[in-house]
Amino acid sequence: MAPSIIRSTKLIYLDHAAATPVRAEVLRAMQPFWRQEFGNPSTLYSLGQHAHDALSRARTMVAGVLEADPAEIIFTAGGSESDTLAILGAARAFRMSNKRGGHIITSATEHHAVLGAVKAAEELGISVSLLPVDPQGFVSIHAIIAAVQADTFLVSIMLANNEVGTIQPIAQISQALKKLRPQRQKNKQPTILLHTDACQAAGYITLSVSSLGVDLLTLNGSKIYGPKQTGVLYVRKGTPLTPLIYGGGQEYGLRSGTENVPGAIGFARALKLAHEERHQEVRRISKLRNWFAEQLTKSISNCHIHGPSLITAGVNLLRLPNNLNVSFDNCDGEALVLYLDALHIAVATGSACATGSTEPSHVLRAMQVPPFHIRGSLRFTLGRETTKTDLIYVCRALRSVVTQQRHTSTML
Ligand SMILES: *Cc1c(COP(=O)(O)O)cnc(C)c1O
Repeated sequence: MAPSIIRSTKLIYLDHAAATPVRAEVLRAMQPFWRQEFGNPSTLYSLGQHAHDALSRARTMVAGVLEADPAEIIFTAGGSESDTLAILGAARAFRMSNKRGGHIITSATEHHAVLGAVKAAEELGISVSLLPVDPQGFVSIHAIIAAVQADTFLVSIMLANNEVGTIQPIAQISQALKKLRPQRQKNKQPTILLHTDACQAAGYITLSVSSLGVDLLTLNGSKIYGPKQTGVLYVRKGTPLTPLIYGGGQEYGLRSGTENVPGAIGFARALKLAHEERHQEVRRISKLRNWFAEQLTKSISNCHIHGPSLITAGVNLLRLPNNLNVSFDNCDGEALVLYLDALHIAVATGSACATGSTEPSHVLRAMQVPPFHIRGSLRFTLGRETTKTDLIYVCRALRSVVTQQRHTSTML
């Protein structure tokens, strides 16, 4: 029998891919903009201009991290909105200048915001290639190039996957697409835009839009210790895009509505801090994650790690350094989550994300993980405050609940 476990007094939170606590520095930066500096940035008097200036500073701060022009930064209400604006905005712009046709390439393991927006584009009559991934979650650059059609106008591939942490080769995809440009221009075919969802990548991977070679890039605040319902879409100058929200023409006409000034300021601060600390944090957290994986697999039999290998040496980062997705044979992921919650540990099932969904994870399915493994999978995502002591406790707790569950299932 497993040793009995005493409930931890503090909550051990290992679901940073779902939400992160707002950092104190972020909260402090936002503070003046709720009550004192509450003006509407579009107004002419000083109070409004203060808000306008603060918004401009936030935009410049974000542009600095992305090595972009401030005029290319569109503040939105989060990752889902940015993904939708990128995809549906590009699709609608394409259809405004082309009566028919249009083709989008994306992958089977994208976030639901991307998959949903692509589906909405399909309803406009645009065709879609949903590319498969390999067992580690990678899309093939060759498959992307092979899928290109005469009327392809958009490729949308995420920078890092939220379930298994796979980091896609965006820069190489961009280079391969750029090679097609001269021939496509000669044939009067549309330029292919590249969009990447970088919500999970911020704080771990470079977000330089020129190094990545992207035209559109999605970020959100809630995964980087910023406020929920904040985010950004980077839109390279000259990218044809139609807005989703109409009104006063804020955000360069791409996102109307009175700006969320404290939100934008909080987002910018969170992104800047994440960016500044990223090298140090990648080193610290990958070591911790690898140690955790080793302990887990050593102390619990019959568990399987999903996603790319945990080797994160050098700049060839293939997997997010804070992600571990593991399945436990003869266990039910949801039951494990509830038992761990009772011990004050918060983790996600491997199939998290869609609200209240019990559908097996579309990501693990696309990676050909057998349903039997998907059912018993958990996703651990470490964060800034995760310590080795926390993980020692989690290992013991897991060993106990897994053993108990396996014991019960053999009794039935
Ligand atoms: C969380 C997340 C989103 C959605 O962002 P919201 O701010 O919740 O709308 C999109 N893509 C990825 C990869 C995410 O992790």
